[in-house]
Amino acid sequence: MNIIFLGPPGAGKGTQSQRLAKKYGIAPISTGDMLRAEVKANSEIGKQAQEIMNAGQLVPDSLMVSMIQKRVKADDCKNGFILDGFPRNLEQAKALDKMFSEQNLTLNVVLSLKVDESALADRIAGRFSCAQCGASYNKYFNKPKHEGECDSCGSHEFIHRKDDNRETVLARLETYRNQTAPLLPYYEKKNCLFIIDGTKDINEVGQEIDEVLKKIRIQQG
Ligand code: ADP
Ligand code: ADP
Ligand code: ZN
Repeated sequence: MNIIFLGPPGAGKGTQSQRLAKKYGIAPISTGDMLRAEVKANSEIGKQAQEIMNAGQLVPDSLMVSMIQKRVKADDCKNGFILDGFPRNLEQAKALDKMFSEQNLTLNVVLSLKVDESALADRIAGRFSCAQCGASYNKYFNKPKHEGECDSCGSHEFIHRKDDNRETVLARLETYRNQTAPLLPYYEKKNCLFIIDGTKDINEVGQEIDEVLKKIRIQQG
């Protein structure tokens, strides 16, 4: 099963993608996480990406496409994968189509998490994640069960993204509106788009996604 998650920053793509990955044994691929790892390692890619990310703009397509091409060949993608944060514009979507057909892969479904911009600010302001395992939390909506301790790995160290500040968030929302939102009609025409109401709580959103995937599995056999 190969899935694409679309949605504005803070919509819940990462949260739902981590959940599906565990449930179905498929690989969660977050291009944002991959880029943040490059920045942390101070690699050439990281050096190129850092300023662009802090400005809330898009890292060049050629770099992103070759990153994804390599990533989907890894062993953990054998049962499928979930793309969270890719594609982010039409060029990337077209490159992905080409990659799918060249590698004989099927795109099973595109899930778009719909959340009003007004609800995104608190989600982004409250977002933090585990420094060890990357599990995602929120200080308003999704705290760890025991304060200060990661549910998944027990770590006590957490991080807050540098680009989760008001100014950068406004730029990221604009980038989403101008460059990523046009992917909705693109996938709609291909008949693989499902809109999910992302305003409900995390478990309810998860249930709605499960129902869509069930339907897809029956349809596609
Ligand atoms: P969000 O959680 O807001 O959706 P991500 O973690 O997916 O953000 O991405 C963080 C930043 O990394 C983006 O603002 C952008 O600068 C860069 N980035 C991530 N994925 C891509 C991509 N597919 N193409 C270009 N830039 C990307
Ligand atoms: P994205 O990957 O789309 O940028 P995340 O999955 O990182 O979004 O979610 C953004 C923040 O909002 C995180 O702190 C997460 O815990 C929280 N969150 C995710 N889904 C919901 C939801 N349905 N209701 C409330 N908060 C949520
Ligand atoms: Zn952890």
